[in-house]
Amino acid sequence: MTLFSLPRLRRGLVWIAVAACVMPAFAQNNDGKLSLVQQQKLIAEIERGDMMVRNLEELCDGIGARLTGSKELRQAQHWAIDKLTSYGAKNVHEEAYKMGPTWMRGQSSARLLNANRQTIAMAQRAWTTSSKHTIRAEVIVLKARTLDEFRSEIPKLKGKIVLALTLPSANAEQRKNPEQYAKDYASIVQEAKMAAVLFVSERQGSLLDMNGGPQARLKHNVGIISKEHANLLQRLVARGVTPQMELQFGGKFAAQASLAYNVVADLPGAEMPEEMVIVGVHQDSWDLATGATDNGVGVVLAMEVLRSIQASKVPLKRSLRVVLFSGEEQGLLGSKAYVAQHQSELAKIQAMITVDSGAGRIIGFPDMQVDAWYTALQEISASVPLLHQLDIVYGISNGSDHQSFFEKGIPAFSAIQEPMDYLSHTWHSEVDTIDHVKPEYLLHNAKILSLLTMSLLNAPKLPIAPHRAAPN
Ligand SMILES: [Zn+2]
Repeated sequence: MTLFSLPRLRRGLVWIAVAACVMPAFAQNNDGKLSLVQQQKLIAEIERGDMMVRNLEELCDGIGARLTGSKELRQAQHWAIDKLTSYGAKNVHEEAYKMGPTWMRGQSSARLLNANRQTIAMAQRAWTTSSKHTIRAEVIVLKARTLDEFRSEIPKLKGKIVLALTLPSANAEQRKNPEQYAKDYASIVQEAKMAAVLFVSERQGSLLDMNGGPQARLKHNVGIISKEHANLLQRLVARGVTPQMELQFGGKFAAQASLAYNVVADLPGAEMPEEMVIVGVHQDSWDLATGATDNGVGVVLAMEVLRSIQASKVPLKRSLRVVLFSGEEQGLLGSKAYVAQHQSELAKIQAMITVDSGAGRIIGFPDMQVDAWYTALQEISASVPLLHQLDIVYGISNGSDHQSFFEKGIPAFSAIQEPMDYLSHTWHSEVDTIDHVKPEYLLHNAKILSLLTMSLLNAPKLPIAPHRAAPN
């Protein structure tokens, strides 16, 4: 999921209007711009041969949830390799990286032992361990904004099921020494000896969501419950009734560390094959549903970009590379591994594009606050009629695989999308299913992504971000 770190500001609309007026009707591509004929060929190919809905059904309904390390993700990776090969991709292969022990979900349950004694819907947070025995304990509500506040609560937390409404986050000073902060945090958790910790889902409508990964600070007996059930527990506490709960956790780790994989597929360029545009999306998902909006749609879009560009036979100067990452949900593990494994090629990456904000229409891209990238995106937007509508936004986004590339100074862009019901309902939730995907938006997004990718493949080289270290 892509997050903005700055408010979105609009700029450049006047420039788009002027540039569009002076563009020759049938510009040829010797200046790096797509001709109108080439644009039309690409659009016609997407409208003619679009495989996205079928691919999404095969991926989500046929294979299902794709937790990193699961056999379903491996099945999905083999499926993608076959598809990309059938679309004419070259050099289709997997790249392995070490990811630590695989986590497997087991049976979990929760219920109130007093008050109305109802069942509480709970999902175990991923990448956490489980007590073998059933936990029966009182519930206490915790709001601790700082480590000092957390530490002062230790005497009340021992042996309790802790409903964690607020937990500390590092301040500017503490962020300068993350190792020390992690150590201090861990020592409080160890001393507190909490029986279990319950987090509250961020989705509406009693839906549970999921998160977790190797870096999480709470690692044992951690559950996620709905907003409504968290409200029930708080109402009981507020009128002097201490909730008593019974919990069971069943998640566990495999005994040994395993490998995870990224899928790579190329369309070689004719003039500068060593330079490339990467369309990179994560193929892994959380496991409460089937990962349709996060990020099945990204996978079928990236595959459609490759298929349509290959089938339209528009000549490429640079190479197109599609990368299907894994481990994104556990902390961008796959894209970090890719960047580490391809150090010597990073300076040759013209741009990296991702789409990872649900199933809504693409409406723009942040410029990552690099003026040269803003200008390049504006020039492309101005020269391709279907891209005129894009907002090139002043801002930096992070939180998806483009971040791993941007940290090396590589031009890396994540699509801004209309939110639809992503943040309210589908993101990481029990209803992240195909029901929440509109085929017409997939088609729209495929045209936008293919035209932008094709333009970047042939445009003048974008510089490495000047304020960041050059890749070595
Ligand atoms: Zn995602």
